[in-house]
Amino acid sequence: MPNVGSAHAKQQRGPAATTPRPAGFLFPLAPGCLSRLAPMVRKLLLASPRGYCAGVERAVETVERALELHGSPVYVRKEIVHNLHVVRDLQERGAVFVEDEHDVPVGATMVLSAHGVAPVVRTNADARSLRTIDATCPLVTKVHVQARRYAEAGYFVILIGHEGHEEVVGTMGEIPGQIALVESVEDVGKLSFPDGTKLAYVTQTTLSVDETLVVITALRDRYPEIRAPQREDICYATSNRQWAVKEMLDEIQVLLVIGSKNSSNSNRLVEVALTHGVRAHLIDDETGIAEGWFEDAEVVGITSGASAPEKLVQRVCEWFRARGVTDISAHRFVEEDIEFRLPVELRRELALAAEQE
Ligand code: SF4
Repeated sequence: MPNVGSAHAKQQRGPAATTPRPAGFLFPLAPGCLSRLAPMVRKLLLASPRGYCAGVERAVETVERALELHGSPVYVRKEIVHNLHVVRDLQERGAVFVEDEHDVPVGATMVLSAHGVAPVVRTNADARSLRTIDATCPLVTKVHVQARRYAEAGYFVILIGHEGHEEVVGTMGEIPGQIALVESVEDVGKLSFPDGTKLAYVTQTTLSVDETLVVITALRDRYPEIRAPQREDICYATSNRQWAVKEMLDEIQVLLVIGSKNSSNSNRLVEVALTHGVRAHLIDDETGIAEGWFEDAEVVGITSGASAPEKLVQRVCEWFRARGVTDISAHRFVEEDIEFRLPVELRRELALAAEQE
């Protein structure tokens, strides 16, 4: 169980009797006595699993190791993962985030983000003699490989995903002209192919498990012969975090999802709660919390997206502790044991550096 249940609320002196009391904050006792905190809510439940996935761990460590090896600046194309705090921390350590490979000086080191890129990005990087380190999550690469295999076998590929997301841009760039994006059942209804077109589908890794199933069902109804990947493309981290939220929905009245606005898997966690009638809010950190959210809530659930560091969860717990909440526990404890090796280019460089020492 995470070490979150043993902390004690700070004792504070109560305000003067005439001072308006913020909801659930300080509970005034008799003069001379230490005040007790009247908890803002009765209990916090922490979802498990939550937070960093193996792909994010690997991507963040890639930038950190590249900085150790090469010093600042190390250029990173796009946000290495979709989290404001992670990006800020790495910026402070010398990473420079750019939108495009053309923004990287010739010959410099560039890390590709966990979301993956289209092959043209690697071609452009080679043309600029960039030292490229590819931190694409292996589970995104798996989807790219699958899409290429389908295309090579003569299939037209339907990608289920969100338009404009970097992962979608990268996957579509693998097989331009042989792939179409659908976001919804309505999009499936708009598809049209010449007779005899062989079809296959793949999905973005960070989608809603339930919504994707609905779209897949629509695809299968319309195209019974459509080829499906042997294994689900929605990654283990995305589906596990959605499962963990669903498991505690009966016990909570409000869910806080710690994650950035552009984090696809974090947004899906909010949707899971909303779909089941539980109020949910996406926050970058404790500064995004509004006290009014909990007026009629007894139990608040907390989870974090796959790119949100655990320290942000602890900061949110502290925010509640400061408002008298001492009952903080994991809903259950589920351990994920997936690890990915660092990118091969980086491992080679690290081995070389070790030899030279
Ligand atoms: Fe990889 Fe899934 Fe994490 Fe994305 S959310 S980086 S696909 S493990």
